[in-house]
Amino acid sequence: LPPLLEVHGLKKYFASGSSTVKAVDDVSFSLAEGQTLGLVGESGCGKSTTGRSVLRLIEPSEGSVRFMGQELTLLPEGQLRAMRRHMQMVFQDPYASLNPRMTIGEVLEEPLIVHKLHDRATRKRGVAEALDMVGLNPAYAARHPHEFSGGQRQRVGIARAIITRPKLVVADEAVSALDVSIQAQILNLLRELQQELGLTYLFVSHDLAVIRHVSDTIGVMYLGRMVESGRCEEVYTQPRHPYTQALLSAIPREHPRQHRERIILQGSIPNPAAPPSGCHFHPRCPSCMEICKTEAPAAVKVSATHTVACHLSRPELKLHPT
Ligand code: SF4
Ligand code: MG
Repeated sequence: LPPLLEVHGLKKYFASGSSTVKAVDDVSFSLAEGQTLGLVGESGCGKSTTGRSVLRLIEPSEGSVRFMGQELTLLPEGQLRAMRRHMQMVFQDPYASLNPRMTIGEVLEEPLIVHKLHDRATRKRGVAEALDMVGLNPAYAARHPHEFSGGQRQRVGIARAIITRPKLVVADEAVSALDVSIQAQILNLLRELQQELGLTYLFVSHDLAVIRHVSDTIGVMYLGRMVESGRCEEVYTQPRHPYTQALLSAIPREHPRQHRERIILQGSIPNPAAPPSGCHFHPRCPSCMEICKTEAPAAVKVSATHTVACHLSRPELKLHPT
């Protein structure tokens, strides 16, 4: 079976004054149907831009996005619009993405109207069914967004995303604005819906605990580049990139005996308009070597299911930290 989504060499460059911000710089990954890929990294690493470029909510500068056997980057507007029912998005702030003047029923019916799905009576049934699937009373269709709590609004946001029965859902910080107890409920809901509807998720979050909870595979991004990727458990238990190691050292262990020394990163994320030479991470890396300052590390496979872009993981280089 070919992957549902295959992204190759994706780039998104923005002009910023006289310089260019390489928000997404040569990112590749693939995602099998029914699986979840978690994209993780600090704010500004390009993970949201990657998600939006995949859906062509923003136009990628370069690269290939194959989805359901079609090259999305080459699709004319009309065909792209028709494909949108198969790929939906859940946003961080459901309130900002819900029109306050519309009833929940109107909010949910809108995608069905846009995609010319069903007659009016069937659409109404679809709205009631979607509300039920996300754990909301179908009678809430008559209410307005302001009548709901944050968690309920996110359920509406999810209902709106699944109402066209998409294949792919991109969730961008979908639980980040919610209290931890509500987060768990929403994550469980997303998992149930994945089972029930065979959904494939591209899950974008800065929160490593959330990403671990939901992902089959993960990609760690830093300043527009994918620095480490692989099977979720493999990356979490055997992180190879110093950036991943530092991120993971900052979250509580599941088993206290696996105690890992907290790695404090020097400095903050550099200006993306003027990223450091060589390995973008080198000014903050505790293992920085001379070569790191001039040469960007290529991605190498450290196992069949684990890829790292760091000179330390190049088997042919016997290098020592400076
Ligand atoms: Fe650190 Fe060098 Fe690896 Fe970059 S390539 S993460 S600077 S060791
Ligand atoms: Mg973001």
